[in-house]
Amino acid sequence: MSFSFEVARTDPTGARRGRLTTPHGVVPTPFFLPVGTAASVKALTQDALEELGAEIILANTYHLYLRPGHELIRKLGGLHRFMSWPRAILTDSGGYQVFSLAELRKVTDEGVRFRSHLDGSEHLLTPEKAAEIQLALGSDVAMVLDECIEAPAPRDIAEAAVKRTTEWARRARTYFTEQASRNGQLPQWQFGIVQGATFADLRRQSARQLLELDFRGYAVGGLAVGESHGLTCEMTGEVTALLPRDRPRYLMGVGKPEQIADYVALGIDMMDCVLPTRAARHACLYTSEGRVLIKNARYADDQRPPDPNCSCSVCRRYTRAYLRHLFAAGELTAAILATHHNVHFYLDIMRQIRESIEFGNLLNFSSKMHARYVVGPA
Ligand SMILES: [Zn+2]
Repeated sequence: MSFSFEVARTDPTGARRGRLTTPHGVVPTPFFLPVGTAASVKALTQDALEELGAEIILANTYHLYLRPGHELIRKLGGLHRFMSWPRAILTDSGGYQVFSLAELRKVTDEGVRFRSHLDGSEHLLTPEKAAEIQLALGSDVAMVLDECIEAPAPRDIAEAAVKRTTEWARRARTYFTEQASRNGQLPQWQFGIVQGATFADLRRQSARQLLELDFRGYAVGGLAVGESHGLTCEMTGEVTALLPRDRPRYLMGVGKPEQIADYVALGIDMMDCVLPTRAARHACLYTSEGRVLIKNARYADDQRPPDPNCSCSVCRRYTRAYLRHLFAAGELTAAILATHHNVHFYLDIMRQIRESIEFGNLLNFSSKMHARYVVGPA
């Protein structure tokens, strides 16, 4: 059950190159987590994920709790065995989905009461329950329940959410520590989540309060929800400046290809986003030359690979013309091939970022990406 986190190198921007060791493998940092909502990264098999070199994926607690249920997954040997994924898994707390998907939710100090978006059944998610579900799933990294608020948030609402998030984090930490003292060392790391909307002082306050609870890692939540990229970076920087150097830092729900290096430069070690998988299903390919909207008529007879500079198995084998045809014909393979390429592209960005940190030229990589993604494809 060995867990560890090491920073091997820090470059002048503040970017960190290191590794997160879990019982299910070593994950080089900084890394990107493909999102496997319901224990499946949509349109990719676990074989494909392994081929792509994904070392860790994210699964959504809310979805797995409602269907098929965490107790069933526990009975079947935990999430790794259930989905036949031998590498690392991070689960979120379920909070974000409750706040964004569930109906009739009511937040109290106790937790959040909601109706399932599947069948209308009523549930109560508390900080303890969110921790319990994730222990049943057996993920390597578990997130605490936090209060997610609508953006842009007025100050009084953001302030109240920080207070509640800290209180919930304290309860989740207590529950987790009690379970550990009862059952021996748990094969899971628990991370806290810093909130505070777009108020720098609230972000700092939230971070300081969570630091007292001594989490194994810290996430920054509630960003990239409509505010400018500049403001996302400013808030992230406020938080990372306060976080201990020897704990992993996770910026949740980001980002666009050209923004990833900016977050890494702020000292972020891990990120997740539905963008590469969701965009793929909507026929948007991320390439080294910018976005390619593959349904466009201009690609009808384009015999080039989706991305001429990509070494993924899709780009080695198929043409833009063929992918466009698959989307036009509504073939399932369209989503499969596009997702394969996009996930490869994101994981490759991370490889290039890690290499750039080694050579101390992350800023060059960052400006190259910004240039390509503002100008768009040639
Ligand atoms: Zn490719």
